[in-house]
Amino acid sequence: MLGKQTDEVRKWTGPLVTIECQNPATLEKLGEVPSLSAAEVAERVERARAAQVSWGKTSLAERRRVLRLLLDYILLHQEEICRLCSTDSGKTLADAAMGEIFPVCEKIRYLIDHGEDDLRPDPRPSGLLMHKAARVEYLPLGVVGVICPWNFPFHNILCPTVPALFAGNAVIAKTSEWTAWSAADFQAIFNEVLTQAGYSSDLVQIITGDGNTGRALVNSGVEKIFFTGSPENGRKVMAAAAETLTPVVLELGGKDPMIICDDADLDQAVGAAMLGVFTACGQMCVAAERLYVFDGIYDRFVDKVVQKAQALRQGPPSLDRGGDFDVGALTMPRQLEIIERQLADAVKKGARVLVGGRRNPHFPGQFFEPTVVVDCDHSMDLVKQETFGPVMTILRVHSEEEAIRLANDSRYGLGSSVFTKNRRRAERIAKGISAGMTVANDYGIAYMVQSAPFGGVRSSGFGRINGREGLRSCCHVKTIVTDKLPLHLPMSLYPIRPATFPMLTGAAQLFYGKGIGERAKGAVQVARSLVAMVRDSRRSQS
Ligand code: NAD
Repeated sequence: MLGKQTDEVRKWTGPLVTIECQNPATLEKLGEVPSLSAAEVAERVERARAAQVSWGKTSLAERRRVLRLLLDYILLHQEEICRLCSTDSGKTLADAAMGEIFPVCEKIRYLIDHGEDDLRPDPRPSGLLMHKAARVEYLPLGVVGVICPWNFPFHNILCPTVPALFAGNAVIAKTSEWTAWSAADFQAIFNEVLTQAGYSSDLVQIITGDGNTGRALVNSGVEKIFFTGSPENGRKVMAAAAETLTPVVLELGGKDPMIICDDADLDQAVGAAMLGVFTACGQMCVAAERLYVFDGIYDRFVDKVVQKAQALRQGPPSLDRGGDFDVGALTMPRQLEIIERQLADAVKKGARVLVGGRRNPHFPGQFFEPTVVVDCDHSMDLVKQETFGPVMTILRVHSEEEAIRLANDSRYGLGSSVFTKNRRRAERIAKGISAGMTVANDYGIAYMVQSAPFGGVRSSGFGRINGREGLRSCCHVKTIVTDKLPLHLPMSLYPIRPATFPMLTGAAQLFYGKGIGERAKGAVQVARSLVAMVRDSRRSQS
């Protein structure tokens, strides 16, 4: 049971500094957690390294068994997990179920069903060396470090942790200092599952701390870092990792475009836009932050989203008796100021706020009202910078060319979507958008397709999570070349003789020459060189 182990797990020892946690929806103080020092991080990594030795030797079938236990545990405790996430981050229970539970369960299911195929040794053609057999092995890296943001307290930990564990690694995952309160309970989940399966709970350690703890993890000698967070801190992580040549995967910010063509199914587009903007109060890396709506459908689209946004009910998850609220609170106090500043700049430059546009005065917590803004353009910070809030930013476009050009006019390139009934148009626009993922006639589902890689371009980061690519990025990708035929050719290049060089150039001509004539020339040159080499060798022996 989650709560049972919590007190015990929360008895951390020797913290240098503590982080005070509060519920962003009520501003109630939740408690304190330690901010681990560099020495404490190093000690955790050492423990993880020891636990990984036996885990790294387990079969994939055994790892599947452990993931099945984890999945069962999550399903049994999903409501508690959702409540923990809501308390820590301010999101509604429905947002927690959708964003914390579903993608994690789908990821575990994918790994159970397909992980073994993705990590099976991969034979490769050995080319000219026909007597050799080549293959690629996907071996554990050792200890993997995970650094998380605050928007999905549970999912952000498990998303890189579960594949890294399945690939045979131990994991140290640092939560965000803004959602650190639930860390002890999430640690308890792993403790229970790993102990039940017969493994050390040091295999997965969830640690708390601020940027200094994160920096210590990057510098700790772990074999790889999976960082999810802002581009600004991503740059710092990359610079620190460069010192030790630690590989990094960076999952950074987004400013996703949603293109709604004039031939789109209006209700479908409106539904997806509401989901893309207001889910998790807009605090998603793949939130639909720029809506490019074609002139021919613009007014009807705006009328509908305005009606729907006005009807949204906002409130603290703690007062939710089940289905009372559609939109929760913002997790970070700083985010309220960012949204206010961006909206003020947009209004000064000609945008009109049709719904919301202010802090919600009915609650003491960090609530910003669901907002709809029209007449936006690319001079505005609201269009250029990440907003991370419940703000629907609508821009009018007149053509496919204009929509694609504006969609690509961003430092970010994470997700994107296009709405049209014309399949060819959807394909054309999808290929034209410069982003990691594009979805046609839907919002955000690229993440639920766990077989497909997920990640960004430009300031949205690099490297991939999810799918075969994501799982293999948790591995030491090793090439092994062995004998196919036990040929032991008595071959030595040394000493180099006058005919050695013409023999090598002749061989290149023989193997790679264009057409039979060119290759035959190479064969003759090789034969002559070999004869010369034999003569030369006999002369030097006599
Ligand atoms: P952030 O960069 O402020 O913090 C992320 C994490 O990095 C935190 O745990 C923090 O303690 C740690 N950190 C800070 N400085 C560090 C340093 N120098 N070295 C190591 N670690 C350090 O980001 P945030 O505000 O928590 O999260 C919001 C951002 O995350 C947004 O930009 C959002 O788009 C992005 N995000 C991206 C994805 C994705 O998959 N691409 C998913 C979720 C969130």
